[in-house]
Amino acid sequence: MNPLLNVDTARANILADMKTLEAETVSLPDSLDRVLAKDIVSPIDLPPFDNSAMDGYAIRFEDSAGASPDKPAILLLTMDIHAGSVPDTRLDSGHAARIMTGAPIPAGATSVIAVEDTDANWAKGAGSPLPAEVRLFRELACGENIRLAGENIGAGDTIMTAGTLIGPAEIGMLAGIGRPRVDVIRQPKVVILSSGDELVDIYDELTPGKIRDTNGYTLAGLVRQAGGIPIRLPIAKDSLESIRALYRRALEINPDLLISTAGVSVGAADLVRVVMDELGEIDFWRVNMRPGKPLAYGTIQGVPFFGLPGNPVSTMVTFEVLVRPALAKITGRAINQRRVKATVADDIRSDGRRTYARVTLSREGDRLIARSTGIQSSGALMSMALANGLAIIPEDVTLAPAGEELEVLPLRQID
Ligand code: AMP
Ligand code: MG
Repeated sequence: MNPLLNVDTARANILADMKTLEAETVSLPDSLDRVLAKDIVSPIDLPPFDNSAMDGYAIRFEDSAGASPDKPAILLLTMDIHAGSVPDTRLDSGHAARIMTGAPIPAGATSVIAVEDTDANWAKGAGSPLPAEVRLFRELACGENIRLAGENIGAGDTIMTAGTLIGPAEIGMLAGIGRPRVDVIRQPKVVILSSGDELVDIYDELTPGKIRDTNGYTLAGLVRQAGGIPIRLPIAKDSLESIRALYRRALEINPDLLISTAGVSVGAADLVRVVMDELGEIDFWRVNMRPGKPLAYGTIQGVPFFGLPGNPVSTMVTFEVLVRPALAKITGRAINQRRVKATVADDIRSDGRRTYARVTLSREGDRLIARSTGIQSSGALMSMALANGLAIIPEDVTLAPAGEELEVLPLRQID
């Protein structure tokens, strides 16, 4: 038997093999959650022109000198500027222009006084009459409440770099500079393969001896979360012909990654490894982790392949530890190395392999407390459903006693 492979070595080997996919062009709304493939340089200033940050009055700031509620400055109202319009006259000394948020500042004006700091009491809607004059109740500094052209973004500025995960704010910025299409990293097609005579699909009847294929569904969810396009194929039987047919079909899809579960262990029906050896270059790994020791990794006709263990928790944990980082590299996303430190609430036992224990993390004062989700069987998906983290018990440690601090791989938001 080969010695058990260290988890970090396994991950490093995998990452060295993975290649980030090429770019494709998508429409701006479709770029959400995609990874930008090229730096974005703004062709324009944003804002494109000096504009008002307030509903109020554009003035020359000197005209507000000494103004207070008891001694207001009084200015003549000679202009009315709405957002979207272009003022065509210059603001003279002693005059004010009614101005709306986002409307261009007229030439000559140096500040905007908010309507709340004046005696104005506007009627709503277009055409509300412009009073003859306005009283200012406070003094303004030069430039107050004016958003200057280019103050957010200057023409020629790099506003986003390749590798940025595009969220709603990025989409808004791209819209702001007028980009209808964006170059993003192509999403990998990830074929998900299940096999086992005991497996039936969700619509099938659960006859004696059968269980439902859950791995096909959890993996599809994990792949989608990680930025891939999951493609589930029908479940293969525990026969060489059935498994061969499934793999051939998988390869016809021209996938970027293959993930199978089950059939890589030492059982008599573990035929997946036989077929994998026929079709590809596979390393059978015994990784020093719990859950998830038996694992196959390699390539089939040039396509990277993961043969994950069949137990539902092992499938998910090995995905988190080994496949998610691989997909991050393929999709151009940052590889999340985040670990948090948490204090163990109760003793957690291990067998000397690096153990990923399912825990719930909660904040207590300034500490994070990790509680075991109870049942830790690698068949019990409930332990994953309840968990928001995987507490890592290092190699050669058989007991993490209550009170000890462990590193935890967060799986979701910690409340
Ligand atoms: P195996 O690796 O085939 O020995 O499977 C290990 C365990 O995982 C067995 O209890 C299987 O029934 C279970 N298992 C295998 N594939 C799946 C699947 N797709 N969904 C749920 N459980 C599975
Ligand atoms: Mg099986």
